[in-house]
Amino acid sequence: MTFLYQQFVKRILYPLDLFRSGDYSELRYLREFERTQFLPPDELRELVWQRLRHILDTAYRRIPYYKSVFDRSGVVPGDIKTETDLLSVPILEKRDVQANLQTMIDPDWRKDRLIFDKTGGSTGTPVNYYYNIERKWARQAAALRHDRWAGYDIGQRFAALWGAARDMPEPGLKQKIKSLLFPKTLLLNSVNMTPELMLEFNEKLKRYQPPVLLAYANALSLFASFLKQRGVSVYQPKGMITSAEVLRPEDRSLIEEVFGAPVFNRLGCREFSVIASECEQHCGMHIMAEGLYIELVRGSRHTEPGEPGEILVTDLLNEAMPMIRYRLGDTATWLSGTCSCGRSLPRIVNVSGRGTVVIGGMDGRFCSGVALATFIVSKRPSFCQIQIIQEERGRILYRVGCGHDKPLQQNDLDFLREQTELYLGKGIKIDYEYVDSIPHEASGKYLFSKSTVARELFQ
Ligand SMILES: [Zn+2]
Repeated sequence: MTFLYQQFVKRILYPLDLFRSGDYSELRYLREFERTQFLPPDELRELVWQRLRHILDTAYRRIPYYKSVFDRSGVVPGDIKTETDLLSVPILEKRDVQANLQTMIDPDWRKDRLIFDKTGGSTGTPVNYYYNIERKWARQAAALRHDRWAGYDIGQRFAALWGAARDMPEPGLKQKIKSLLFPKTLLLNSVNMTPELMLEFNEKLKRYQPPVLLAYANALSLFASFLKQRGVSVYQPKGMITSAEVLRPEDRSLIEEVFGAPVFNRLGCREFSVIASECEQHCGMHIMAEGLYIELVRGSRHTEPGEPGEILVTDLLNEAMPMIRYRLGDTATWLSGTCSCGRSLPRIVNVSGRGTVVIGGMDGRFCSGVALATFIVSKRPSFCQIQIIQEERGRILYRVGCGHDKPLQQNDLDFLREQTELYLGKGIKIDYEYVDSIPHEASGKYLFSKSTVARELFQ
């Protein structure tokens, strides 16, 4: 694709398409976020606190769930003036959202201005939620801003080593996939990574020439390791965005060595889109501060820089269904000081909690654990919590958290066998373990897949 065509898409086609679909405000948000990322720290803090006070006040006045929660806890939004004051607002757990969805939505909000979404189930039972249309535009703009840090720009080609289009983290991309006028996203399916397919992925990338590749961290590391072992010439993008899984330092080095391009690590989730991502300095991840208020807590206090804490997210822009102090299930550490890129957005480091892995299948094939868990759980909500464990070649264990005395029914077992063989190959041995709930790791996090063998299988 020529530079001119890319500019034509960026400056004319893309804005026109947004105008046609009523989503033109996405570009307004993008312009705003491009500016506010460089605000002096005091001004940014003031902007964020204005939004935080507004969402707390809105939640209390308009949302039945929060009216009741605040009253029960003796919290008056007007009294919250410092971050420490926020500690008196109860933490929102995923199970609270599952149990109170209807009372968490503004009863007067126009239904046609609400967008329904749900988590993929990869972190346990899916969570259903809504956001208002303004929030959709802001989410897309935030994703675009952070993609641009990695070298992508509107109108350019994009490739993803991902599970499925439905689970792509940036909602904006799905729209681009649909449109014939825009460069399509090249989707390389991380659910099915045989040696032959991985060689084909590399050839497809060479033909398509996308500047940026988005990928699950573990799947990309495996892909890099395979290409290196084969000694083939590897496609070199300008940058790679890794997301959805923890990126280990050794994986980053390997990926950067093999692809000859920098990795831009990112923390995102379906509920909030981009939460934090690396800039070109690769020194911590800047949070999406204009849209999300992030707290790091340990017990009943906030952590200091350098000390790990659990991530709580308050969505500052979703007035239709406010999410206040939502426990994400990951931990991170504040990084003090300012970034040499000049952006004042605060930074976090050492994100952990998403210890997902690649599962080894039959015939040398591999499958991203996060993608497999997502596919299986989202197709059968009756599975409650499920964890996939692999400790031996050719064998996996499904740990099912519906109750130790509640084995799966025959039709569920048949479904699991069929799906497992589809993704991991015929002949794989499957074991089951029934527990009351999936045990947490020592870090306090729930992992949805674990493998001690994938990497050895590969070497
Ligand atoms: Zn920076």
